[in-house]
Amino acid sequence: MSIELPPSAEHRAAYPLTTLPERVRARLTELAHQHAPLSGYLYDPDTAAARARDLRGALPDWAAVYYAVKANSHPAVLAALAQHVDGFEVASVSELALARTALDGAAPARPDHTDGTPTPVLAAGPAKTTAVLTELIRADAESINAESLLELHRINAIAARLGTTARVALRVNPAHIPITGSLQMGGAPSAFGVPEPDVPDVLAQAATLPALDIVGFHIHAASGNLDADTHAAYVRWCVNWATDTARTAGIDLRQIDTGGGIGVAFEDEKPFDVERFGALIADTPPPAGARVILEPGRYLAADCGWYAAEVTDLKNSYGHWFAMLRGGINHFQLPTSWGIVHNITVLPVDTWPAGLPRPTAENASLTVVGELCTPEDTLLRDVRVDRIRAGDLVVFPNSGSYGWEFAMPNFLGHPAAERHVL
Ligand SMILES: *Cc1c(COP(=O)(O)O)cnc(C)c1O
Repeated sequence: MSIELPPSAEHRAAYPLTTLPERVRARLTELAHQHAPLSGYLYDPDTAAARARDLRGALPDWAAVYYAVKANSHPAVLAALAQHVDGFEVASVSELALARTALDGAAPARPDHTDGTPTPVLAAGPAKTTAVLTELIRADAESINAESLLELHRINAIAARLGTTARVALRVNPAHIPITGSLQMGGAPSAFGVPEPDVPDVLAQAATLPALDIVGFHIHAASGNLDADTHAAYVRWCVNWATDTARTAGIDLRQIDTGGGIGVAFEDEKPFDVERFGALIADTPPPAGARVILEPGRYLAADCGWYAAEVTDLKNSYGHWFAMLRGGINHFQLPTSWGIVHNITVLPVDTWPAGLPRPTAENASLTVVGELCTPEDTLLRDVRVDRIRAGDLVVFPNSGSYGWEFAMPNFLGHPAAERHVL
């Protein structure tokens, strides 16, 4: 993702203060005083847990939910999610360690937890090193989603050396996913997965590698999808494709991993309808012995987080107002990389040092920028605010996913963003 200016929010008003739950408002006000000048995230782990419970509850028995840790890796969020998901999707040694800590903490509450069972983690990533693969195999990961023939050979060699067998799903980049009418996916050149035409050959070679147990397939082709019908059609296509391919290749199919990609509604968009999605996929069960896996990241974590930053300075430049934040894309890069209008609310902070002038804008069109010495450090453009002052907090709801994790904290070397839990 590149850094560019987010689109203009012209004619859009900032969210009213009531957008923030009362307890979030109270805590952020407290943090504004205790940690001034604040640039940080506030997370509500219960909100993430509720999303997971609702999604899991809407799905048939044969479907499982593995949370993609990259979206939000805060230990309290992972601990809350661990009670309500089947496992975690990880990409690095550090994510694996975080997932294991959360799973260990939740162990008594997990009905299926017994010693000797695999660690319920799945792993993806286009360039897994020997170090990562070794840790995954040592942890007895439920499945490693292999992305190439070379990676299959690496996994086989490591597992053989450790005297074990590794469960592996082949990540596939499909040639063509025909779903409802106009929307089509697949066929794009990509670093991820094995191109579909190469799959038969790769599976034939994998069958000769004795330390591999091929459990199924992984396809992660959706992104930010808000439509339950197309997502259900996508999952059904994955089930049918995996079933046919496994039959042809003589694979004992146990896993059909359909990746992440359920979207989060902003502004007046309609939220993803999990009940409808669950009902729609129910008529396409996988073959006996196989599970269908969803790996949501954004959907579970987005609305459990608020990014809040103090207005360090406020100025009018040739008729246009700018609010300069402690923080910016070094802590919260999402709006610039996602190309969305990520709206704000202004939380008034009443204390202000005696003897300093306090710049104030009223009924103004405002651009919100960060503290970095580059014009790309722009989070929101041309939003209408009733009032904003230096010292107030600018708060971005829906910042629980790809916020702290996705930012670029080292550029210019300002202090890191804080993370707090409600
Ligand atoms: C990023 C990622 C996810 C999560 O995607 P979301 O769009 O956040 O749901 C799931 N699986 C894989 C392999 C990923 O890379």
